[in-house]
Amino acid sequence: MAQTPAADSSRPARRGNNLDDVRRNNLAVVLGISHARGRVSRAELTRATGLNRSTIGALVAELVELGLVDEAEPSATKLAGRPSPVIVPREDVVAIAVNPEIDAVTIALVGLGGRVLSRIRHDTATAPSPDEVVAIVAAAVAGMRGELGASARFVGVGVAVPGLVRASDGVVILAPHLGWRDVPIAEMLAAELQLPVTAANDASAGVVAESQYGAGRGARGLVYLNGGASGIGGGIALDGQLFEGAAGYAGEFGHTFVNSAGSPCHCGASGCLETEVRRAPLLALLGLDNTRSEELEEALLAHLARPEGPDAAVAALLERQGGFLAIALRNIVNALNPELVLLGGFLGTLYAVAPERLSGAVSRSALPGAGDGVRFGRAELGNELLAVGAALLAFKPVLEDPAGVAAPAG
Ligand SMILES: [Zn+2]
Repeated sequence: MAQTPAADSSRPARRGNNLDDVRRNNLAVVLGISHARGRVSRAELTRATGLNRSTIGALVAELVELGLVDEAEPSATKLAGRPSPVIVPREDVVAIAVNPEIDAVTIALVGLGGRVLSRIRHDTATAPSPDEVVAIVAAAVAGMRGELGASARFVGVGVAVPGLVRASDGVVILAPHLGWRDVPIAEMLAAELQLPVTAANDASAGVVAESQYGAGRGARGLVYLNGGASGIGGGIALDGQLFEGAAGYAGEFGHTFVNSAGSPCHCGASGCLETEVRRAPLLALLGLDNTRSEELEEALLAHLARPEGPDAAVAALLERQGGFLAIALRNIVNALNPELVLLGGFLGTLYAVAPERLSGAVSRSALPGAGDGVRFGRAELGNELLAVGAALLAFKPVLEDPAGVAAPAG
């Protein structure tokens, strides 16, 4: 008899209660665990879901039939008894991840299970237009299809965009740093590649990746803030799921108000976190230009370690930016009561040079309760973050309803 899983109470009951619906939901639960953990034994699946062994066996057999997982004998073990077979997501089930930025378009192939199989960064002289992005992606994907061979199954494309993306149709309503407004990027790529395409804000894609594979694993309420070339983005994940808001725009923490005497922001307001906490002045003080931003942290740590101490201008800038970042974090902590706040990009660097100063400033100013329990940390996935996050957008329909995806021919 089919059972409903006990352990995964976070999954919303999306379907009716007939047996077929229960089975499809259980398939999604089992594939989800396999996708998140990479390798998982039948015994672990039984424990994690609360389903009995024969039900798990039938679900795994169906996922094998659907071409989504392989079942392998585990490597030899010293323990007595017959070891439980290991279920592994198939890496020839792939998603294409796309991330247009102001100076490059990055395209990655990601296997089911979240491993980045290959990644191409195509540098552009200026911010790429939507048509340029489509042409660059089409050329890259043609090459990747050749590399993978005929057996590979492309489930779809995920696009992580540094801007505001409408969740319902993947239209970029505004990406100020790319100069895009009302661009139907998902539709354009779908027409070119003949694959389903999902687009989302880059930090929203990033928070889901950190929550499933990075420093945010297991955190029930996760906020991610990233400082990059295009300002400050943010995302919220609750129980591993992206919190989108009503239409997909939630998490724009870069436009949190932090300074009543602040500079005008491109959003039309002034004193936004994004105008007060910027990477460029820090790079300039350390004698680095934009192309050397990856050296920022090393240069800053070396500067702070000088025997004569840091330059007064550098110390003042860190103090000022750290102070404004703490104000934004206080607002976030008070409003959302997250368990964990992860900082990425140059915000991770600001945190790294003085972690106690930043977390202390937030704890002292936030309300008791929300401020007491919150933890701070750095994003873990680094260069692969957006590739993994964008791929998760593309894998979502498969993960939600594995049986709804056509099995491979033959
Ligand atoms: Zn703003």
